[in-house]
Amino acid sequence: MGRGRGQGMGRMGGTSPGAGPGGKCVCPSCGATAQHGIGVPCNTIKCPKCGTPMVRA
Ligand SMILES: [Zn+2]
Repeated sequence: MGRGRGQGMGRMGGTSPGAGPGGKCVCPSCGATAQHGIGVPCNTIKCPKCGTPMVRA
């Protein structure tokens, strides 16, 4: 039992060009963008301007 790591970071349905580490979210309402951390879905982040749940840029 020594092998716990493989290539785990695969591409999961990549529809966003240039998705780097972290990534960006965009507000569908006002167009504001925000950075988010790895493993943090955009829809858990609210727009700092209008409070709308953000979506992936
Ligand atoms: Zn907004």
